[in-house]
Parts: sequence; C-alpha cells; structure tokens
Amino acid sequence: MALPTRVDDSAPPYGTLVFDCDSTLSSIEGIDELAGPRKAEIAALTERAMAGEVPLEAVYGKRLELLRPTREQVAALGQQYVGTALPHALELVQALRALRKRVCILSGGLRQAVFALADHLRIDSGDVFAVDVFHGRDGAYAGFDEDSPLARAGGKLEVLRQLAREDRRGGLVLIGDGATDLEAAPAARRFVAFGGVARRKEVFARAVVTCDAPDLAALLPLLVATDEIETLAQDPVHHPLLRAARVAR
Ligand SMILES: [Mg+2]
Repeated sequence: MALPTRVDDSAPPYGTLVFDCDSTLSSIEGIDELAGPRKAEIAALTERAMAGEVPLEAVYGKRLELLRPTREQVAALGQQYVGTALPHALELVQALRALRKRVCILSGGLRQAVFALADHLRIDSGDVFAVDVFHGRDGAYAGFDEDSPLARAGGKLEVLRQLAREDRRGGLVLIGDGATDLEAAPAARRFVAFGGVARRKEVFARAVVTCDAPDLAALLPLLVATDEIETLAQDPVHHPLLRAARVAR
C-alpha cells in the first residue's frame, strides 16, 4: 500500500474536523464485534489492513461475506459504538460545533451502525461518510455498496479531497488510527495519528502530530487555536472538557 512518507502539517484553526470511527471515536473495531466466535480470525484480517500490510479491498468483502450481518446485528453494533464512545467524545463535538466547525465522520465501517454513533454525538447524518450495507425484507444480509470508495484502499483520500473542496473556513484536519487514515492525510492540513485505543507503529512513524491519550479531550489543543480555547472558556458548559484536556495531555 502506498503510504505517504511524510505528511505536511499546519496549525489550527480549521474549518472542518473529520474523525475516523473505529478505534478513534469508539474503542471497538465494529466489524470484529460482528464476528462472534470468529472474532480472532476477522480481527487478524482487520489488523493487517489497518497496519497497511494488505489493501483494504483485500479484506473488506471477505469479512462481510464470512459474517453476513443481519439488520438486527448491524443495529446492535450501532448501540455498541455508542456504548464504547471514548471519554469526552460528545463534549468535544459540542465544543467544535459551538465554534461553528463542520464535524464529519469518515469511516470504512457500516453506515447504518455509524449513524447511531453520529446521532449520539449530534453529528448530522449528511456529515457521515461510511459504507452502505443492504438487507432483505426479512433482515438478512444482502451485500454492501461495492462501489463505495470507502471499502477500498485510497478511498478515504477521495472523499476527504471532496470535503476539503467544500470547506471555506480554514481547511481540514483528520483524526484517525489506521493506515487508511494516513493514506488520506495529504488532503488535510493536519493529520492527527490517534493511538488512544490502538497505537499503530507504521501510522505513528509517519505522522507529524500524534495523540496517545485514551480520552478525546486530549485532542482539543491539537484541533483548535488558542483564541478558540479562550472563546470556549467563556461558556461554563465547556469547562469539564477544558479541564479534562489539561489533565489528559
Ligand atoms: Mg480506525
């Protein structure tokens, strides 16, 4: 896989903040959670793709074909995403929205499950970019959107470039843990390698900005400018986040 050898970086403010879902906003890898007793086998495939050892498309359809998740299982996964959201995920998104930023989720996960987390975080469904999964009337698995760029290597870069074009307020920052995030970094003004859940050596080695804390509050100073933190400090609703940001660093 063609990972960028170096990633340019420029400081905040940004207009658009784009978060990966699995092992970033949430502490799980959704597809692995769908695997039940086959979790070890599926997780090994996921890990190879996220470490950049094999292209995403080499494992994407294969994992789903092995698992064939029902509509009910995908809905349950959505609830699992909500239950495993990292500390201060909601507070961070609220603060970013208070600063009038666009907040997006960019995920190779299943859209119907990621929607549940977006809803919990009050992120617009129109700002969720993920892979559609299809079900029959009886709820049985009926395939996934094989045309989605997010089911293949390099796809996040394509979607991120479009989001960067739509931004009018200072460019875009991407936060993620995986090789597919790092691949998309050239479309962002900053890429934050997030290792609060899974610290991937290949991704960390190439990123300029990294965060190891298992608490999303620690991201705040990497995502907003000093004067924006001062703006947030004026509203007590953001004080718990600001306090946690100081402790988590
Ligand atoms: Mg991830």
